[in-house]
Amino acid sequence: MRAAQLYGVRDLRIEELDDPGADDGNVLIDITACGVCPSDVRWYTGGRTGGDYPRRLGHEWVGRVLDTGADVEAFAAGDRVVADWRVVCGECYNCRRGVFNYCSNMGRGGVRGGFCQRGTVIPSNLRVIPGTVSDEEACFTEPLACCINGARKSDIRTGDDVVIVGAGPIGLLHTQLAKHHGARVIVCDRIEARLHKALEVGADDAIRIDEQNAVDAVMEMTEGRGANVIVVAVGVTAAAETALEMAGINATVNLFAGFYPSDPIALDPNLIHYKQINLTGSHDFTPHDFTSALKLIEHGIVDVETLISHRLPLDETAAGFDAVDRREGLKVVIEIAE
Ligand SMILES: [Zn+2]
Ligand SMILES: [Zn+2]
Repeated sequence: MRAAQLYGVRDLRIEELDDPGADDGNVLIDITACGVCPSDVRWYTGGRTGGDYPRRLGHEWVGRVLDTGADVEAFAAGDRVVADWRVVCGECYNCRRGVFNYCSNMGRGGVRGGFCQRGTVIPSNLRVIPGTVSDEEACFTEPLACCINGARKSDIRTGDDVVIVGAGPIGLLHTQLAKHHGARVIVCDRIEARLHKALEVGADDAIRIDEQNAVDAVMEMTEGRGANVIVVAVGVTAAAETALEMAGINATVNLFAGFYPSDPIALDPNLIHYKQINLTGSHDFTPHDFTSALKLIEHGIVDVETLISHRLPLDETAAGFDAVDRREGLKVVIEIAE
């Protein structure tokens, strides 16, 4: 099979590898599409390094069942499926507390490395894609699952003023989820086209942070109270500091994005103390979030199709990574032919 392999910074090669087999208990899948995640691009640009090379990237993939291991009964050849890459044990301390996204025995199986033609997954980590959902749309199951976990941690209530910092694909998923929680949603970004898209998917207000002081704008929009919830969907430390300044009484500030490189933020403890601010973070998702995400896509509750800006073949995976790195367009999906 053909697969994209990362050898070093911006050195991504398409190579010929052996096909994986459907051994006992596994499902062999013909991969049809894989979304490009900012975390893939972080490895590509050298923001993250380490471990073994060549490295296989891509965890937002979907495909068709090609073959199943002898003891697999739940799936048959031809089924369209999306893979949850987080193989959780269900037995460790965190799993038993329901915090599956921190499973101590997290396995990845063959699920990671979706920029290639074939992969294997254990049946419990597959979901059948409903007939009305395209392969490209199903690629959003994983990022949307992360946002569902994030929305839960953000504690959005009906009538809240919610600020989403960053209108990339993730910020635009958060925007739609916050609307469904019954919030008034304000989105901040510096890219005009992204703010247009935010308004198109339901944001009530948009702030161009290179033209306006975002804190002043939020205060003005909330009659001086500040926001009830701020979701930071960009890994920029200044954005985290700004988010704290926008927060009103009892607000929740959720650092949803990862920060690379990590850099301390300036934090006025009195801001937290006197405003009773709940400062939290959110990371990854649980198996149930994954199921819920696919359901929201199926019923059109979250529109993901509108977020796809690039559909590229496997040979152009590196160009797709470059586009994400330059913040061109929105979501890049690699379409993988047989
Ligand atoms: Zn992802
Ligand atoms: Zn576990």
